[in-house]
Amino acid sequence: MSTLVKRPNECELLVVDDEETICSLIETALQDLCRVSTCANAAEALSLIESRDFDVVISDLKLPDASGIDVLKAARTKDDYTELMIVTGFASLETAAEAIEIGVSSYLIKPLTMVDLRLQVEKAIANRLFHLKSIMLMQRSNDIAPDIKDHVYDITSLFRFSKKLMLSLEVPEVMRVILDEINDRTNVLYSVVGVDCRDVRELYAMPRVGTMGIADARQSILEAWDNAFPFMDKISFIKNELPLTVFGGRHDAAFTFEKSQPVVLQLSVMNKRIGSLALFGKQGFAPTADEYQFLHVLTSFISSIVEHSCLDMHAKLQARTDGLTGIANHRSFHESLSREIARADRNGSTFGLALIDIDDFKKINDTHGHLVGDAVIRDLVGRVLGMIRRADTFARYGGEEFALILPETGPEGARILGQRICREIAAKPFVFSQVSVPYSVSIGLSMYEGNRPRLKDLLIGDADKAMYASKAAGKSRITVS
Ligand code: GH3
Ligand code: MG
Ligand code: MG
Repeated sequence: MSTLVKRPNECELLVVDDEETICSLIETALQDLCRVSTCANAAEALSLIESRDFDVVISDLKLPDASGIDVLKAARTKDDYTELMIVTGFASLETAAEAIEIGVSSYLIKPLTMVDLRLQVEKAIANRLFHLKSIMLMQRSNDIAPDIKDHVYDITSLFRFSKKLMLSLEVPEVMRVILDEINDRTNVLYSVVGVDCRDVRELYAMPRVGTMGIADARQSILEAWDNAFPFMDKISFIKNELPLTVFGGRHDAAFTFEKSQPVVLQLSVMNKRIGSLALFGKQGFAPTADEYQFLHVLTSFISSIVEHSCLDMHAKLQARTDGLTGIANHRSFHESLSREIARADRNGSTFGLALIDIDDFKKINDTHGHLVGDAVIRDLVGRVLGMIRRADTFARYGGEEFALILPETGPEGARILGQRICREIAAKPFVFSQVSVPYSVSIGLSMYEGNRPRLKDLLIGDADKAMYASKAAGKSRITVS
């Protein structure tokens, strides 16, 4: 028996990009690796895909006549195992989700280096040939025992699943991919994954087909709680404090809700439980011994991916928050401010930026010690958070200085809020071990008008000057620049 279905250099690769230079660059870079065809628009690509069999399809996302996703979808519909790659000048979360959905194996951001591209294509060709071999083995029904065929099928689907997971790092996306795989492999009505790892405490549910109501999902989860999610806090779930996301299932049928006790699989890493998978089927639903075995292999694999995505989320969150107060830090403030400026420029809307500085803070530290100083900072944060809206961003700008971004707010509204903050802070001292620590804040306010673009640094500079004007005028007040 020959071991290869075809040789790598016999593989057919299609490049779809409206930039001619990119097409010819890719063609030159890959011509010794495989057979390369190129085209410049979606219509041409679709007719090529229809008339020929491609092993690998690489498409630009933005084509003159359609989205590259449409081209890749057509290739996927024709052949479940074609390797799909995206080359793009921009990356958005939506397209990333769509890309995962159709099983894109790599997502290359321009400018791309030919060395990277070659490595990705070599990998894609290897994957493609691996699949072709598996399919060929599975199709040899006469000379291969059924259990070997099943095993090859398991290996192939594990391989595909791992590829999908590798493209998704965000926790919700990882959960969606996992539930989709479980639903695809078993005869469940719906499945639920609950995670308690690092700061991530969340539940996700997905019906096999159709859409499932959040109330039905909550009811089932609650009834199965002690069996399925004993490591998570039931009271928090009852109080609606644990987020529950319900994804949609496949569209080919309607979902019918049925209550049942689930089959539970543990997610654990180094003997530590980090989550559960609960499989809800019709009455009497139970996986076969072989299915069980496969699910166990799958869960050990899932566990480490879940842990990684939770760690990643934890690290990202930590990089954005201030350790003492838990609010946005300096870096995250700048990101929010840039976003707000872009939004105001787009909508022509107005927003306010207030810089808030604690008055005579050095004296508080000198009189009561740094620990009390820290507690005053936390007191201020708690009180300001109680006075602002959800859409507002409150950040620790530095030591005892804070920044407040007030979206969709006019100068009058912003000034009134600032005055309220000054007044309420001065009116009520911070009390620490029965010692009263009165303090006050000075505020500088600057407004940003969407139809009069201004540099971010100038906006901050104006708020800063206004804040120093408040200090010069006697502190505990607001100045509008
Ligand atoms: P002004 O009214 O002009 O703002 O005077 P001030 O004393 O508040 O201002 P200054 O900038 O001179 O001093 C700020 C002090 O805040 C100095 C620094 O040691 C202290 N500080 C900065 N960050 C922290 C912190 O996280 N905790 C504590 N306890 N003190 C801090
Ligand atoms: Mg100060
Ligand atoms: Mg200061």
